[in-house]
Amino acid sequence: MIKNGRICSKALIQYNTDMYTPSQINYEITDNCFIPEYAASPLTTALSYLPEKIIDFVIESCVFISLGKEDRGEHIATDDFRFNGKKGLIILPDWLWSKDKKMMAFVVAHEVAHAYKKHGFRSFEDMDGALNIKREKATDKQAILWLSPHFKGSFEKYKYKKWQLSPPKKQR
Ligand SMILES: [Zn+2]
Repeated sequence: MIKNGRICSKALIQYNTDMYTPSQINYEITDNCFIPEYAASPLTTALSYLPEKIIDFVIESCVFISLGKEDRGEHIATDDFRFNGKKGLIILPDWLWSKDKKMMAFVVAHEVAHAYKKHGFRSFEDMDGALNIKREKATDKQAILWLSPHFKGSFEKYKYKKWQLSPPKKQR
């Protein structure tokens, strides 16, 4: 089923295992997603590598937003019913959906880790560079813990680099 150009494939799913399959996740997060149709399968696959209790958290608490290649823009009201009770909005770039599974899984796990660790700016004082670096390192570490059982090799090249955390240079 397609609602407003978004994927909503509420197919019949059998719940008979302890682990979530990508199609179960896809079913569960239908109302948490503002993403193009072609991103649904990559996103649910990326989420499927997370521990079950984290997937439960994602279903309960996260909203995913990704603009499609053809999208000019999108307005979502902050009181949209799909945001009800959600704790985090995870905004992902379109280029991610054409990357390899490990890259997609890492980026998604990293952003989910931010939500899981309740990162956010709750006051102006929160907007601190050192705290930000600490959070980025902690979320990278968490993502690696979650994903290590599923992927071979190092995650080094996916981790945040110092230069990505420094403030942008002033444009002249
Ligand atoms: Zn981060």
